[in-house]
Amino acid sequence: MDNVKDINITTAEWRIMRVIWTLGSATSRELIDILGESMDWKPATIKTLLRRLVDKDIVATTKQGNKFIYTAKMQETDTIELTTKQFFDQLCARKVGTAIASLVDESELTAEDIDKIKNALDKKQPVEEIKCNCLPDNCNC
Ligand SMILES: [Zn+2]
Repeated sequence: MDNVKDINITTAEWRIMRVIWTLGSATSRELIDILGESMDWKPATIKTLLRRLVDKDIVATTKQGNKFIYTAKMQETDTIELTTKQFFDQLCARKVGTAIASLVDESELTAEDIDKIKNALDKKQPVEEIKCNCLPDNCNC
């Protein structure tokens, strides 16, 4: 990730992105067929969502004949990494560890996933203390 930018992807936009990442690229017709059926979305809704994703620079669109082809400008792993980081940045710094632990607790993980997490933890250097970054008068950390 060279250009770190703030991205804000809504739940509905994630649905569209999941399909585009899976297919590699998709026409609006394909997206309307897939998401119209699975999500019960109207074509106009899907077109609006696609336009927003293009405006946000997450999706690129190219015209081929009379069709528009949509391709991801942001890779799936980068997007997951960035949005996860953005989410954790919103928490009080002192609550991040607990949030990560409960995330691990509640997630389905393969042996390979668990190895990855253990490996990351083994390499992690602990800090002495984490400063709370809540609002001064509202903190109960
Ligand atoms: Zn705090």
